[in-house]
Amino acid sequence: MAKLIVSKFGGTSMGDAECMLRSSEVAFGRGASLVVVSATSGTTNDLIALGKASESQPWAEAEKILSKIHSRHVKIAADLHLPTESMQRLETLFEEMGSIAKGINLLKDCSVKAMDTLMSLGERMSSVLCTEAMAQVLKRHNSDKKAMWFDVREVLRTDDSFGKARPLTKEVESLSQKKLGFLRDYKTVVVTQGYIGSTEEGMTTTLGRGGSDYSAAILAEGVAADVLEIWTDVAGIATTDPRICPAAKPIDEISFKEASELATFGAKVLHPATLLPAIRKNIPVFVGSSFDADAKGTWIRKEVEDHPLIRAMAMRKKQILVTLSTPEMLHAHGFLFQIFKIFNDHKVSIDAITTSEISVSVTLDDSTLVNKKLIADLSEIADVQVEENLTLISLIGNNINHTPGLAKQIFETISDINVRMICLGASKHNFCFLVSEDQSTQAIQRLHKKFVEA
Ligand code: ADP
Ligand code: ASP
Ligand code: MG
Repeated sequence: MAKLIVSKFGGTSMGDAECMLRSSEVAFGRGASLVVVSATSGTTNDLIALGKASESQPWAEAEKILSKIHSRHVKIAADLHLPTESMQRLETLFEEMGSIAKGINLLKDCSVKAMDTLMSLGERMSSVLCTEAMAQVLKRHNSDKKAMWFDVREVLRTDDSFGKARPLTKEVESLSQKKLGFLRDYKTVVVTQGYIGSTEEGMTTTLGRGGSDYSAAILAEGVAADVLEIWTDVAGIATTDPRICPAAKPIDEISFKEASELATFGAKVLHPATLLPAIRKNIPVFVGSSFDADAKGTWIRKEVEDHPLIRAMAMRKKQILVTLSTPEMLHAHGFLFQIFKIFNDHKVSIDAITTSEISVSVTLDDSTLVNKKLIADLSEIADVQVEENLTLISLIGNNINHTPGLAKQIFETISDINVRMICLGASKHNFCFLVSEDQSTQAIQRLHKKFVEA
């Protein structure tokens, strides 16, 4: 029986007409039925800049950005000889983009709702273009299948946390079964948008930056896919970010648990939430390069053959360490509860945590600092100290918390680098610690040499 494959293509795989045709060839070659695309490379950043410029700068500034986005898409449309009907669809999206920007400029206010609708245009435009590329590839291969554009907002139901909306899994599943059930006939290749969704009231939402991977996984769960493929600009998950460490090697196979840790602790190649739906439904995930589809790539599965102590490492920059101290914590209970309640009320997520007799330290993304009220609320119950410019380094592998001598080897390798906080014990798969931002690249390079290259 044919497999139902969901394939996601990232921004660089949508870079221009040639990339779109290459990506469509990959999707065709693999037999994908549902193709989920990101905005063309750079467009989401441009749309954010457009929202900000429209809000706070003279209209001429916004017009410049509008024209940059417009010409990028018109060039791809021309290169693909976009048929009239699709060109009209694209023109309608250009008009929508202009009028949202104008509205923001008149009100001098870019609400989170307006920003989400504005950002959604990136994926809505690229998907129109990629549907045409897909149609041309199907024709080239004399395939009986048809390419079809689909508005993912018909199925990707989310809550109303604009900017970082949460998919409502049950609703997505029932809508997908209803509206995309025909995929199992294998007569259509549907091209749709990553990153965006819609509330029950029909408001457009986005899932947070890099969210197209997550969209694809949610859709794979919704249509009960057999395989999820993530096509990007690198040939799979590497032992660390190849941009930081050129000696990084591709990983053939990695477990769901290790890959989840890697994604959560900074490997940008996968959005941190991507594997949740795959784990729930035990859907194997493949990561490969749309530029080199024959390269081996990485399979992420529940069970894998080898379980090395250290398989990979990642880093998360722009971290802060918040230390909360109070003598009242001595012999008292409920202090941690109070602290977590405040973080919960502010919807702030904590990555790593350590405690001592009278203090608790947690790591957070530095964007949290914008939230002055959070710090004020914490200050009501404890002395608050904030350290900035830190990087969380994570070593990912197996049986990490039960391996004698590992910590010694790690810290001997970076003995001249000051380590601010260590988290070991909670996970078999992760050992993480904080170092200052300017020493983080060195630390990763040395640890990679010691534990992976050796
Ligand atoms: P896309 O636009 O396709 O979603 P991203 O830029 O989000 O692509 O993710 C791919 C990038 O992730 C790579 O170019 C690479 O620099 C980075 N990356 C970080 N860590 C890793 C890793 N461990 N393995 C592979 N790539 C990684
Ligand atoms: N286009 C969105 C972004 O740039 C989502 C994605 O590419 O995954 O963040
Ligand atoms: Mg990405």
